[in-house]
Amino acid sequence: RIMASTIGASNVSVTAAQLAQQPNWIVVDNHVLDIAKFASIHPGGAHVFANFRAGANDATAAFFALHTTDVLRKYIPRLRVGVLEGAQANDAPSSRDFVNPVGLAPSERPGYATSPYYNASHAAFRKVVRKFTQTEIRDEALANDVTGKAPSSEMFEKLGAHGYLALRLGPSPVLAAVYPGPLPGGIKASEYDYFHELIVAEELATLGTPGYADGIGGGLSIGLPPVAMFGTDALRRKVLPEVLSGKKKICLAISEAGAGSDVANIGCKAELSEDGRHFVVTGAKKWITNGMFADYFTTAVRTSGPGMGGITLLLIERSEGVSTRLIKSMYSSSAGTAYVLFDHVRVPVENVLGKVGQGFKCIMFNFNHERWVMCATIVAYSRVLL
Ligand SMILES: Cc1cc2nc3c(=O)[nH]c(=O)nc-3n(C[C@H](O)[C@H](O)[C@H](O)COP(=O)(O)OP(=O)(O)OC[C@H]3O[C@@H](n4cnc5c(N)ncnc54)[C@H](O)[C@@H]3O)c2cc1C
Repeated sequence: RIMASTIGASNVSVTAAQLAQQPNWIVVDNHVLDIAKFASIHPGGAHVFANFRAGANDATAAFFALHTTDVLRKYIPRLRVGVLEGAQANDAPSSRDFVNPVGLAPSERPGYATSPYYNASHAAFRKVVRKFTQTEIRDEALANDVTGKAPSSEMFEKLGAHGYLALRLGPSPVLAAVYPGPLPGGIKASEYDYFHELIVAEELATLGTPGYADGIGGGLSIGLPPVAMFGTDALRRKVLPEVLSGKKKICLAISEAGAGSDVANIGCKAELSEDGRHFVVTGAKKWITNGMFADYFTTAVRTSGPGMGGITLLLIERSEGVSTRLIKSMYSSSAGTAYVLFDHVRVPVENVLGKVGQGFKCIMFNFNHERWVMCATIVAYSRVLL
């Protein structure tokens, strides 16, 4: 304590034995801090230091779960009594700051425990999702978000194997049927609710890599539900396991250069072949997330006259006549945002999702999940930025 008050930001080397004798000393990122006076004015209360006094446990992870490097830098001159022997202390701005910024996770905000919307399964689920995100996804996310590289096949298959792609499908009446295995955290598909899905959005946002995060399932979360809900049994049996295992990728192709908000006005044409067995699709789609690496395109096509009644939803497989071109956008190209061109693509009539001429209804139904995911994601990223 004498050292702390007189020396301030000391560089003295502190041994483990010295540390063990000082109940008011804690270690954050190798800085040895004396919290004797500070503990009583700490906004979170003095009790939060209990497990870390005398260096009993390193406080670094707990510190960065709730603070940024700026906070550490602010207190070093006042509290540091030394640096852990043999270690290098670091107070430079760090990517760890994005791990869990202040106020990001409801689990760490007062009131979470009493929220009527969260139960024990949500708290347990968050822990599992956070660990997986930080240990299994983070490295590739940080690298690819900068380079614009698509998420690797290994990543997709890993996400599939651990049930993380199924999570992006959202709570759905068909989830239990199409994904029998337990979801991350041991949750049954029938118990997976929108608050679990909110947690997924929040934890992915902590990576601070929105392009990459959309790359690993953005297309799936909007493109696969129509197959699950409106596809024929045969189509579902083929496509769902392929996509949920990460072996194939899917996207939603609705928007066109002349029809964004105005979905009823899309122009991409699908004409029935003479033998009635195929639709022949010609047209272009714009801003298609994951389009660059998608194997399947859940596509709005015009099968008859103008307006919403002439629209059909069709699952188009990447095949002859399908080409994709990257659209540079404000976020990383690892999202695979594409301009998609269909040039006389032959699509089996069995690939109609729902009924011919009923596509607009299916699209509007599907937008509900997309809107929800967007709201959850935008709020989560806003918290990261704040
Ligand atoms: C990053 C990104 C990813 C995307 N991913 C996909 C994807 O995977 N699949 C896909 O199909 N599409 C995708 N889109 C396209 C997206 O759905 C469209 O951008 C959106 O529907 C809006 O269409 P638009 O850009 O043509 O804008 P417009 O529809 O032209 O709208 C321009 C402006 O006019 C306003 N406006 C439009 N109509 C009205 C009205 N009637 N009254 C008042 N105001 C109005 C809008 O609010 C907006 O501010 C993506 C877009 C982006 C930016």
